[in-house]
Amino acid sequence: NIYAELISIGDEILYGQTLDTNSHFISAELDKLGIRVKRKVTVSDEREAMMRAFEEAENNADIIIITGGLGPTKDDLTKPLLAEYFDSSMILHEDILEDLRERFAKRDRELNELNRGQAELPEKCTPIENKYGTAPGMWFDKEGKVFISMPGVPSEMKYMMEDTVIPRFKEKFKTPVLIHKMVKTVGIPESILAEKLEDWENNLPSEIKLAYLPGLKQVKMRLTASGDEEKRLKKLIDQEVDKLYKLVGKYIYGTDENNLASKIGELLLERKLTIAVAESCTGGHLAHLLTSNAGSSAYYRGGINPYHNNLKMDVLGVKKETIEKYGAVSEQTVIEMAERVRELFGADIGISTSGVAGPGGGSKEKPVGTVWVALADGKETQTKLYHFQFDRHGNIEMTSNSLLNLVRQ
Ligand code: ATP
Ligand code: MG
Repeated sequence: NIYAELISIGDEILYGQTLDTNSHFISAELDKLGIRVKRKVTVSDEREAMMRAFEEAENNADIIIITGGLGPTKDDLTKPLLAEYFDSSMILHEDILEDLRERFAKRDRELNELNRGQAELPEKCTPIENKYGTAPGMWFDKEGKVFISMPGVPSEMKYMMEDTVIPRFKEKFKTPVLIHKMVKTVGIPESILAEKLEDWENNLPSEIKLAYLPGLKQVKMRLTASGDEEKRLKKLIDQEVDKLYKLVGKYIYGTDENNLASKIGELLLERKLTIAVAESCTGGHLAHLLTSNAGSSAYYRGGINPYHNNLKMDVLGVKKETIEKYGAVSEQTVIEMAERVRELFGADIGISTSGVAGPGGGSKEKPVGTVWVALADGKETQTKLYHFQFDRHGNIEMTSNSLLNLVRQ
C-alpha cells in the first residue's frame, strides 16, 4: 500500500473560522487512486509546529500533501520552512515571474516586491502551475517519498490537484484498484439492519469490506472491494448488492448518487404523478429537498409553509374548529392540510407536516419531537405520528425523511 499524510496549515482552521474542506477533497481524490490516507493533521502558523509536522509525516507516509501558508505575507511560512527542511537555497524562476507580470498587467497592476518573491522557490522543488492564483505549488522528491505543497485557497488547490498532482500520481504509483458502492436504506435502524445481515456479512468475500454509515432515518452501507482486477471486483460487488436486495430490498431506496428525494422524483415521474407540500414544522425543508433535483418541475407542483395558525386557516383552508379543538399539531390538522394543498395546487398527492421541532414549544401532551405527517392521494389519507428525540435540525430532517419514505411506499 501507498500511504499519505495530509497537513493543513493555518490558525484560522484551528480557531474554527475556516472548515478544512481541502483535506476532505484531497482524501476523496487519493481514495479513488487507491492511496490510503493514514493521518490528517492541522497545524498552526508556527515554525516549530510546522517543522515537527513535516518530520512526523515523513516518518509516517510515502506522500505528504501540505495546503496553506503559501501566500506572500510574513505569516505565510510554508515556503521558507520547506526550503529549510530540504536544506535548499532559493532560486528565481524567470518564466514564473514573466507570467505573473503579464497577469498583473492585464489587471493594470504592477508587481511589488512581495509578488516578485512568489517567483522564487527552493531549488530542490519542481514548481506546480497555479492558474488561479499567484503562489506556485511545489513538488519535492526525497528518497522515494513525495512532498507537495499547495495554496490554501480551495479553487487553486483543486486546480493543481486535477491538472498536475493526480495525473503524476497515476503515473508514479501503481496502486491497487479500490471500488466503492454505497447502498442506501431508509426506515430501518442500524442495529436491526445489522442483525438481519449478520450471516451475509460473515460470508463476504475477503476482498470486500463493509461499513455502516448511520444518518437520520437513513443508514448507508459502503461496500469496498480492493484488489488487482477492476472487472472482477465490480462483478463481486454487484453480486453482493444483489444479495442485499434479496435480504433487505424493501428498505433500499438507491445506490451511490441517489438521495431519497431524487429517488422520490424518479418514482413520481415513473408513475406520472405530481406532488404538493404543506409544511408547518419542516418550514420549507421538504420543498427544498424536492426541488433540489434537476427536472423537479415535472412532478413538483409547489409548496406552502403556513406557520401561523391563522394562515393554516385563511390561506390553506384548515377549519377553525379543527385547530381549536385538536390544536395545530394533530392528526386532524395534518389530514386537512394534506387534502387542502392537494386540491389547491391540483396535485395527485398532497403531503403535510405539523409538529414541535423544539427546543421550545413542547407541552406535557405534546413534547418536543411530537410530529404528525399526512399523505393524501384523493382516495385515502394516511397519517403517521412520530416522537423524535433529536435537536431541532435533526427533528426536521427526520420528519422530512420519514414523510418521503411514506411517499416511496
Ligand atoms: P494565499 O496565496 O492566498 O495567501 P495561502 O496558501 O497562504 O494562499 P492561506 O492564507 O492559508 O493560503 O489561506 C487562504 C484562504 O484559503 C483562506 O481564506 C483560508 O481560509 C482558506 N483555506 C486555507 N486552508 C484551507 C483548508 N484546509 N480548507 C479550506 N479552506 C482553506
Ligand atoms: Mg495566506
